[in-house]
Amino acid sequence: MSETTEQADRTAAEASNADERGRYPLQVRNLKKTFGGITAVDDVSFEVEEGTLTGLIGPNGAGKSTTFNLITGMNDPDAGAVRFNGEEITRLASHEIADRGLVRTFQIARELEEMTVLENMMLAPKNQRGEKLWRSVVPGLRDDVRRQEEELLERVWEVLDFFEIDHLAEEYAGNLSGGQRKLLEMARALLTDPDMLLLDEPFAGVNPSLERRLLEHIHELREDGYTFLIVEHDMDLIMNNCERVIVMHQGKILMEGTPAEVKASEDVIEAYLGGEV
Ligand code: ADP
Ligand code: MG
Repeated sequence: MSETTEQADRTAAEASNADERGRYPLQVRNLKKTFGGITAVDDVSFEVEEGTLTGLIGPNGAGKSTTFNLITGMNDPDAGAVRFNGEEITRLASHEIADRGLVRTFQIARELEEMTVLENMMLAPKNQRGEKLWRSVVPGLRDDVRRQEEELLERVWEVLDFFEIDHLAEEYAGNLSGGQRKLLEMARALLTDPDMLLLDEPFAGVNPSLERRLLEHIHELREDGYTFLIVEHDMDLIMNNCERVIVMHQGKILMEGTPAEVKASEDVIEAYLGGEV
């Protein structure tokens, strides 16, 4: 291919990227990651449509968590690119990616178990979007500081209320049930008011009634325009709740489609039967 053709192709690709900006906020292109001899993520490309709940499924070891880590800057890819809202975010630090509105949930760290739910929430924005709140504070302007703190506190209560854990504000995070912890993890992520959330097995260890509540919250947020990419083990849960499903197997994308299409796929059935699920 001549240089000018390549250039023209690239310009066309950029133009189509621009067209799709907004419609497909997350675009993953040819991501690759090896660990020693293992290719955990092998030429993975997909996009996530704005305002959808998209599921990422696949047998154990398929490369789902590694893909999440590459997208959110926890790991650098060996090759490939990630774009968010039309901007290249490959190899940015996690907090820089969060600043741009793409966040993942984190398990509550051990140190934070000894803090209350409220304290956990007040700490959450640091290194994330809300850090702007602190950075923008001019030393000496006490009223400003107070106003910023009040705004943060107001947002904290709003989010706690949304997840119906406001009554647990003074409880130590370490005393929460598995499900309540998941709610707090989501609440912390949401505090920064992201555009898109990546959830890695958000229902693990959650009892059925809390799972239903968590799902209701996710659907409610989706209707408000948030976009979700969810890794989940429970195939039925993904099939019943997601509009789009991406299937990974042995580091590669096996298929992508609607739940009905994925369910009907021989390749998917084989991948699940062949591997440990
Ligand atoms: P999944 O989340 O789909 O279960 P992972 O992304 O966790 O899969 O893992 C994909 C493959 O990469 C597995 O074979 C796993 O053992 C390997 N892997 C993941 N992280 C590391 C790491 N930090 N070091 C070495 N191997 C890893
Ligand atoms: Mg995983």
